[in-house]
Amino acid sequence: MSAAHPPRAEVLIDLSAVRHNVGLLAARAAESGAETMAVVKADGYGHGAAPVARAAVEAGASWLGTASLAEALDLRDAGITVRLLSWLDTTGVDFTPGIASDIELSVSSVQELARVADAAGRAGRTARVHLKIDTGLSRNGCPAYAWPDLVKAAAAEPDVDVVAIWSHLACADEPGHPSIDMQANRFATAYAVAREAGLRPLRHLANSAATLTRPDLHFDIVRPGIAVYGLNPVAQPEQLRPAMTFRSSVVLTKRIEAGESVSYGHTWTARRDTTLALVPVGYADGVPRTLSGRMSVWLWGSRRPVVGRVCMDQLVVDCGDDEPPLGAEVVLFGTGEVGEPTATEWAETIGTIDYEIVTGMYRPRVRRRF
Ligand code: PLP
Repeated sequence: MSAAHPPRAEVLIDLSAVRHNVGLLAARAAESGAETMAVVKADGYGHGAAPVARAAVEAGASWLGTASLAEALDLRDAGITVRLLSWLDTTGVDFTPGIASDIELSVSSVQELARVADAAGRAGRTARVHLKIDTGLSRNGCPAYAWPDLVKAAAAEPDVDVVAIWSHLACADEPGHPSIDMQANRFATAYAVAREAGLRPLRHLANSAATLTRPDLHFDIVRPGIAVYGLNPVAQPEQLRPAMTFRSSVVLTKRIEAGESVSYGHTWTARRDTTLALVPVGYADGVPRTLSGRMSVWLWGSRRPVVGRVCMDQLVVDCGDDEPPLGAEVVLFGTGEVGEPTATEWAETIGTIDYEIVTGMYRPRVRRRF
C-alpha cells in the first residue's frame, strides 16, 4: 500500500494485550511446572507473527509453534532465537534449512522420520523432533498401531534427538467432554511405549482451552494459540484482553427520505428520514457478506446498525438524526470494552469461530498497525 494513500481500513494490534495474555497463560502453566509455547501460525492468527512472537517471549513464552517450516524460518529471519517447533508440512518440503536454523520438527510416521534424518545428515546436525501421536483427533499424528514402530525407529536413529511426544485435543473447548480424558489416557499409553523404547521425552498436549481448564494436562509444555490473542475458547470468564481492533472511518454522509432503499438488492428501506454514513470497507477487506443485516458498528459514541448488503468495498451505517463528521472513526470490532462489537460476536452471528474472523484479517488492503 502506498504511504501516500491513507488506509481505508486498518487492524490495530495491541501488543500489550498479547503480553498480558501470555503472562496470564505462562503463570498458569508455571503453577504446574510447565513452559509455554505460544502458537503463532497463520501469521500469528492474523495479528503479525514476528511482533506477536517477540511480545510473547517478553511475557514468558519460552517456545513458539508454527504450522509450516516457512513460517518458522520467517521468525528466525526476523531474529527470533527461542525454541521453535514447526509441525505440518507438505511431503515435498526440504527440512535441511529448518534443521540448520535450529527449528524443531514434528514427526508423525516412520517415513517422515527418515526424511528428517536424511535432512539432518545433509545439514550436518542432529534434528530435534517431537513425535506426534494421534490420540483421537484423527488428523495429523501417528496412529496408535504404528506408534511402537515409530518410537523404536526414532530411538535407533542417530541423526535424530527425540525431544518430546505430543498430541492435540479435539474437544478441549467443551470442558468435561469425555474425549478429553480418552485422549489423555491414550497419550499416557503412548508415553509408556516411548519410555519402554528407551526414550525420555518431554510431553505436550494442552491448547488454550486445556491450559485454562485442565492443569492436570499441562505436562511439560502448554501450547496456547487463541488465548494469546485474547479470545477465550471456554465459557468460564478469564481476564484475557483481545488484541485486535478493526477500524475504518466515515467517508461520506447523506440524508435520505423515508421509503428510500439501500445497497444491492434493496434489502433495507428507511422507515423515516435518516442520515446514512458510508464506510469504505467491505467483504474484500474482511467483513463477511453474511453479516449483512445482522451487524452494527461503533460510530460516534454508540452502536449503529449497518443497513442493506455489505458490498465488496463499502458498507452503509444508519445514523438516524446524528450526522457524524467526515473522518469519524468506525470500529467494526474491538475489545468490546466500550460496547463495540467483538470478533467473537461476529463469529457467533454467522455461525463460525472467532479464530476464522481474526486469521481472515491478514489482507493486503487492510493496514496493520502495532
Ligand atoms: N497446537 C496445535 C497442534 C494446533 O494446531 C493449535 C491450533 O489450532 C494449537 C496448539 C493452539 O490451539 P488454540 O488456538 O485452540 O489454543
